[in-house]
Amino acid sequence: MELEPFVFRHEGVLVGMRSQTEADGTENEVNRFSLRPLSRTEYAVFTLDLCHNQVDRHFSRFPDEELAAINGMTPGRPLMERHDLRGTLPRGTFFRSELYRDKDVLSVRPDVYVLRSNDNADFILNIEGGVYRETSIGFSFRTPECSICGRDLRTCDHVPGRMYGDVVCHYVMRDVLEVIEGSVVSSGSQGTGFVAQQRHLGLPQALDAARRGFHEPVELWSKRMWADE
Ligand SMILES: [Zn+2]
Repeated sequence: MELEPFVFRHEGVLVGMRSQTEADGTENEVNRFSLRPLSRTEYAVFTLDLCHNQVDRHFSRFPDEELAAINGMTPGRPLMERHDLRGTLPRGTFFRSELYRDKDVLSVRPDVYVLRSNDNADFILNIEGGVYRETSIGFSFRTPECSICGRDLRTCDHVPGRMYGDVVCHYVMRDVLEVIEGSVVSSGSQGTGFVAQQRHLGLPQALDAARRGFHEPVELWSKRMWADE
């Protein structure tokens, strides 16, 4: 039986803001996505650390080859700002991405440009001021592979985070299909109302739901995983 893709959100961090004076090809790369040439004063550039190859606190892990796929799919995708009640607004565009290695840790680090429009002024200020620093990536992949038995996690009984013998079960995210968007999460967005409204599920609930009906796409809201328990 062919299972539906697994769709969920994965958290990341804003790692920095690019200087507007460095000559690193930014202008040419940004202008590949704009309809008229933009000057450097018209946009801000931020770097995000979207995801990496280590087992994270939600007991999931990307293999290196999937990070390479995500790295290739990210340029051109939107950066959104998530609000509690007002929904989601596009704020920027990812215009390039690189694989960044620090010892054993391989991560995907895209750059995003945000127009310095009136509407974006507060958003940029919140990032520059360190108020908005958490990000998440929404994507879909084909197979959450169980690290214990190698089967699709939706079809086996192993539970991520539980010990089996002397190893902890985690799941390996294989066959990434699509990078949907990156998001910056404002501090007011984590309330129960938002989660209920958007039907973002914590991992235990999402896994339960996925095991009940394989044909329902599942959306996880990773930042709520343990708070929901
Ligand atoms: Zn298993």
